[in-house]
Amino acid sequence: MKFLVDLQLGGLAKWLRFCGFDAQMLRLPPGPFPALPPPAPGTFILTRQRKWAGRNRPDLVIITAPAPQEQLEEVVRHLGINSEDLAPLSRCSRCNDLLIKIPREETLGLVPEHVFHRQERFYQCPRCRQVFWPGSHLKGISGKLREMLEKAEGG
Ligand SMILES: [Zn+2]
Repeated sequence: MKFLVDLQLGGLAKWLRFCGFDAQMLRLPPGPFPALPPPAPGTFILTRQRKWAGRNRPDLVIITAPAPQEQLEEVVRHLGINSEDLAPLSRCSRCNDLLIKIPREETLGLVPEHVFHRQERFYQCPRCRQVFWPGSHLKGISGKLREMLEKAEGG
């Protein structure tokens, strides 16, 4: 599953990447009714612009919630995403690039000392060099999402 995310939804794009989804920002030429990219299988366009809703595009998802967490819930509900679709720690939340596993010794000086001593697995973004590890910024987001999915699947 891949997402083209309207520029207004930068926070949501970040959350989607934390969950492992390919989320690229959608850059459209200015104007009231810019042409959308052609539909592609497995690709969804996320926007808050209701004026786009009249288009006959099943791949277009109009987001209404103001905050990224609720926006993510909308996407999950709308597309029937479940916990098996998630791949946390696979993508850089800033660049959208796929993370690469790196040996612990290479993270010396790049992560806080207590993290270096406590963590075993580290991943790095090949573009911005940011290092991620289980329990970094990720824990809150994927924990909340998992909770939400379990609720949805249980009910
Ligand atoms: Zn990056």
